[in-house]
Amino acid sequence: MNAIRSIRTPAELTDAGLVAPDRLAGIERLAERYAIAISPAMAALIDRADPNDPIARQFVPDAAELNVTPEERADPIGDLAHSPVEGIVHRYPDRVLLKAVHVCPVYCRFCFRREMVGPQGLGTLSPDAMDVAFAYIGDHPEIWEVILTGGDPLVLSPRRLTEIMQRLSAIDHVKIVRFHTRVPVVEPERIDDALIAALMASGKTAYVALHANHPRELTPTARAACARLVDSGIVMISQSVLLKGVNDDPDTLAALMRAFVETRVKPYYLHHPDLAPGTSHFRLSIEEGRALVAGLRGRISGLCQPTYILDIPGGHGKAAIGPDAIRQEYAGRYTVSDFKGVEHTYPPSE
Ligand SMILES: *Cc1c(COP(=O)(O)O)cnc(C)c1O
Ligand code: SF4
Repeated sequence: MNAIRSIRTPAELTDAGLVAPDRLAGIERLAERYAIAISPAMAALIDRADPNDPIARQFVPDAAELNVTPEERADPIGDLAHSPVEGIVHRYPDRVLLKAVHVCPVYCRFCFRREMVGPQGLGTLSPDAMDVAFAYIGDHPEIWEVILTGGDPLVLSPRRLTEIMQRLSAIDHVKIVRFHTRVPVVEPERIDDALIAALMASGKTAYVALHANHPRELTPTARAACARLVDSGIVMISQSVLLKGVNDDPDTLAALMRAFVETRVKPYYLHHPDLAPGTSHFRLSIEEGRALVAGLRGRISGLCQPTYILDIPGGHGKAAIGPDAIRQEYAGRYTVSDFKGVEHTYPPSE
C-alpha cells in the first residue's frame, strides 16, 4: 500500500484496493477519455473502509463521469474565447493566465479543464509558442500580474521554472507572479530549496494559490511544505471548490478554512463547481452554496472567510455570489443581517 509512485491506470486502482474488480470495466472505458493520477500522498490518505471517503471521491474515477448533462460543456469557463495566443488567457485587463503545461500530479474528477489536461490534453508549450506568449506579455504594458496555471505549473522542473521566471523578470510592467497549484498538498516532497528558489527567481512578488478541498488534505507534511514557502517570503492564498460529498457541510468547510489559516494560507476563493462534462454528481445548487457560506460568517473568524465565486459560463469572468448581508428597502433605508441572521434597520429607526 505504500506506493512510491502515482497510481495511473485502472489496473493499478484495483491493485491498490481503490476500485472493486467488478467496477473495473466501467473505469477502463472512462480512462480512455479522462486522465487518472493519484499521488502517493493522496493514496495514503484515502480511508479504504469508508465508501464515502472525501479524498477518494476527489481522485478515484467513477462511472458517473460518463453521464454528461445538457448544460455541461467542454470549455466551461470559456478559456478559448479569450486566448489571444497559445498558452495565454487574457480576460481581465491587468492580468493573464500563462498555461505552460497541461500536466497535473493528480487528476481531480471534477476538474474544470478536464478536456485540456492529462496525457491526451494540450501538452506543454513548445519553445516557439513560449516565445510568442512572452512577446504578448511584453507588448501589453497593462499586464500587471501573470498567473501560472495549467495544468499544475509546479510539476515543471526547477530548471524549467527558473527559465520562465528569468524571462518574466525582464518585463518591467509585470509586478506580481501567481502560481496556482495543488503540489504542496498532493506532492509536498517537491517543495524543496531548488523549487522555492525557482519560484522566487523572477524577483517579482510571488503568490502561491493552494488548491485543497478537504481539511484532511492539510496533513503535517503538507503544512510543513506550506511553511517552507511562506518562510521564504511567498504569500499564500487558498482556492477550493464546493463539492457535493466532499466539503458540502458546515463542519467540514469550517475545518478546511481554519486549517488554511493555521497554515498561514489566507482563504481566497470558494468556487461553485463549473459545468465540466460528467461532473453533475459533484454539483449542488447555488442556494445550498449560499446557505453554507452564510453559515461560515456566523461561526468562524473573519480570517477564515473565503469569497464564494461563480465563473460565468462563456468566458464572462468571475462573479462573487455570496449571501447578501444587506437589502435596500427604499432610498436611504436598508435592512442588514447580523452574524446570527437577525435583521436590523440601517440607519437605526431611533
Ligand atoms: C480566474 C482567472 C483569473 C484570476 O482572477 P482573480 O479574480 O484575480 O483571482 C485571471 N484570468 C482568468 C482568465 C481567470 O479565469
Ligand atoms: S489540479 Fe487543477 S487543473 Fe489539475 S486536474 Fe485538478 S483541478 Fe484540474
